[in-house]
Amino acid sequence: MKEKLDILLVNSVAPRQRIASDAALENGLAILRTHLEDKGFAVDVIDDQRITSVEEGLPSWCLTLLRKMVDLQMKVYHRRFVYLWWLVMLLTWPVQSLALYCRRAYARRRIEDIVNLIKTKSIGFLGVKVWYGDAFTWSNLLAARVREACPQTVIVAGGPHVKVYGEEFLLNSDFDLAIMGPGEKVLTEMIVLYRQTKNKQEFLEAFRQASGSARLVKTGVYTEGDAGGKITFTTPRYRAADLEGKIYFHTLVDGFGCSWNRCRFCSHTMQVKPYHPRPVADIVAEIQSLTRQGISFFRFSSSETPFAHGKKIAEEVLKKGLNINFSMFARGVKVTPEVYDAYRCMIKAGLRAVFIGGETGHDYINQQVMNKGLTKKELINTINCIKLAADNAGKS
Ligand code: SF4
Repeated sequence: MKEKLDILLVNSVAPRQRIASDAALENGLAILRTHLEDKGFAVDVIDDQRITSVEEGLPSWCLTLLRKMVDLQMKVYHRRFVYLWWLVMLLTWPVQSLALYCRRAYARRRIEDIVNLIKTKSIGFLGVKVWYGDAFTWSNLLAARVREACPQTVIVAGGPHVKVYGEEFLLNSDFDLAIMGPGEKVLTEMIVLYRQTKNKQEFLEAFRQASGSARLVKTGVYTEGDAGGKITFTTPRYRAADLEGKIYFHTLVDGFGCSWNRCRFCSHTMQVKPYHPRPVADIVAEIQSLTRQGISFFRFSSSETPFAHGKKIAEEVLKKGLNINFSMFARGVKVTPEVYDAYRCMIKAGLRAVFIGGETGHDYINQQVMNKGLTKKELINTINCIKLAADNAGKS
């Protein structure tokens, strides 16, 4: 790491792996680092979410034993051996609990490592990407320790948990500030202001006056002011260390939000502006830049990639001859020949998975309770349309 850092960015961790994509490339922090470095700041990232991170902190005998027990579970997983299987499961339980205990202890030690780094380098800002569940608990522990040991460090939260909970996030929290939305611009402003003030208290007061925000800062599509076309997108630069122990799977920002934005249960509806697409040229430039680093799996990040936008991206991908696979989130729609054509084009360009929320699948509940704006018939027709398009593209 460089000697002097303006900001340390940390990905929050959970002792247990939650989903496979925990170990996907960390695009959010890479975007922030790229933007801040381009502004001349010294930035570093600590991201412990790696494929093998669930093994960190376990004694080797425990890891070996756990692997053997799980192997055994798989071997006796048969109706004929049901009692034996139960016995193996029960015997695995204490080993699993011990492994979890070791993981928790290791995660707490990592907090101390981060605190020591902040102290040694007198880092003014700590930015934490906060995920849900155990990672949220860990983030709060980290914030509390940093507040105690490094009282002059400004502790800022961002990431999925802030976007879901907004103001509630900061209740009973040791974070000084939270950013709901893209953080590039506001973090830049914060660091500049921090350099002009004498200490953290003066900075917090100056920031409050300058931004008019209390502790939660809304940006991008989460605020009226920024939502009308001033949103900028940064293409992340990964370092070699970012790729180590990661699934080569890049979350690509193809836009923000979804065009419906009215489901009653959905946290994405906290966005002021329903859907904001990213320019296609930008998206394809990012794909090209990442394929040069050997990355060819992309997950489009917006809550919905409308089929017309997806088709434009696909046409550019095909025109440039890029060999990629990608997934996206979509809504069921009224199927027309245009929808079919768009999916066929996207599948030819590498679309391999589409995630569509059907919720209960029950028309009355979806409409009256959830305000889903989608009928069962439209959902099924959309699925069939995608299957036919895949068949036509030779990818069924
Ligand atoms: S369609 Fe999906 S993303 Fe859009 S509001 Fe409904 S649940 Fe949220």
